[in-house]
Amino acid sequence: MIKDKGVEEVLEFIWSQREQGSNSVRELLAIEEVAEEADMETLRRMAGNNLIKMDGDTVVLSLDGEKLAEAAIRRHRLAERLLTEVLSLDAESIEKNACSFEHTLSHEVTDSICTLLGHPPTCPHGLPIPKGDCCRKTGGELKPIVQQLSALDVGDTGRIAFIVSNIHSRLDKLGSLGIVPGSSVRVHQKRPAFVIQIGETTLALDPEIIKEIYVKKVF
Ligand SMILES: [Zn+2]
Ligand SMILES: [Zn+2]
Repeated sequence: MIKDKGVEEVLEFIWSQREQGSNSVRELLAIEEVAEEADMETLRRMAGNNLIKMDGDTVVLSLDGEKLAEAAIRRHRLAERLLTEVLSLDAESIEKNACSFEHTLSHEVTDSICTLLGHPPTCPHGLPIPKGDCCRKTGGELKPIVQQLSALDVGDTGRIAFIVSNIHSRLDKLGSLGIVPGSSVRVHQKRPAFVIQIGETTLALDPEIIKEIYVKKVF
């Protein structure tokens, strides 16, 4: 299996393209960042190395390519989360740094970052982060700095780091209640209903919603 930065980038773009419902070689090579790294010849070589399969204008990942792409996408999107949540960088520096970061992170470091961030399901753009070994097993030694609101105990306070809901009406509703990144919520009770306190207000929240709110515990 070859591992090279350009090849990895191309594999990542094939992955993202598939998420958007395309597997066209022409469309792939028309992406500016891909054109900088690769041409038809690169793709043929990648096919020769059994990373992708090409048929006419169609390109798909082979089993090996799929594994490399999944790992690279995971590193990229976790790096984005890390840079946003922990270092609060702006969008432009995030993209620049996430891209250089992702090629240097080892498997172990990637899983540690994932754990520290509470195994986030999506990147800041809302795209899914492929799961790692760390997400499947629980009870590691690292304590996450960002975790689901549901993980807090009664009496704990958390500052909202991010909300992963893709349902806009729900985000709007939460926003109108002051439940936005940066605000602090205190867990008032967990049973029978999950009740939080935000400012002077107490609110009962749906279990579904509790799972979408990620917080940094405030000590
Ligand atoms: Zn992203
Ligand atoms: Zn994880």
